[in-house]
Amino acid sequence: MPTPDRVRRRYRLAIASVGLLALATLAFVWLSPRARFVVGGAMINVGYRLQDPIEAYDFHHEHDVKPDQIWNELVQQNHLAAAVRKQFPRTARHPVVAMVVCMDARVDTVELTGDTRKYYYIVRTAGSVISEQEEDMLELAVANGVKVIVLTTHTDCAAEKVAADPEKRKLYPALSAAVDEREKRIAELLARPHIAAKLKSGELLVKRVNIDTLTEELVPPPTPKTM
Ligand SMILES: [Zn+2]
Repeated sequence: MPTPDRVRRRYRLAIASVGLLALATLAFVWLSPRARFVVGGAMINVGYRLQDPIEAYDFHHEHDVKPDQIWNELVQQNHLAAAVRKQFPRTARHPVVAMVVCMDARVDTVELTGDTRKYYYIVRTAGSVISEQEEDMLELAVANGVKVIVLTTHTDCAAEKVAADPEKRKLYPALSAAVDEREKRIAELLARPHIAAKLKSGELLVKRVNIDTLTEELVPPPTPKTM
């Protein structure tokens, strides 16, 4: 049977080993950019999981909430968020990706990329349709260093449903016309001389993807005819 001294020594040794292991893990996480990125993403997800189930206190539809209450809540939340940002400013980086995404609130581009580092220009439009302004903006982004343009659509898109429904088309003619013109606009963008030259030289990549709205996974796009 071990003596009390021996037990104490083993006990101290065990505590020291656990402490060393924790320190080594912290050092690894701090020193390895990949580990920091993954652990940071996991911590953000902890925040999402905390906020996600809360319905009761502000914006939920089923509550008899008035527009000015929603606005006041938004302002209050912004003040808190801005105060935190003043204390912990973010690093400004030049984006290397420009992504065109529908305005559907279920698609969260930070979740989609798992990246909060502001490497992405996000263009959000109704039905993921670009117009001439967005074409200009994307061309400017490419001139400023963007190397990948991701043109997305997404499943269960309300704009596409409107465009596909003769009755709803009458209510929202401009949106329907925009969805009809989506492919034409994309062709216009790709044919712009500066874009076409960079595509040809391999300095720019343009990808078409469909976003699974529930999981936010990027999947192959439907054929243009059915988009
Ligand atoms: Zn949509």
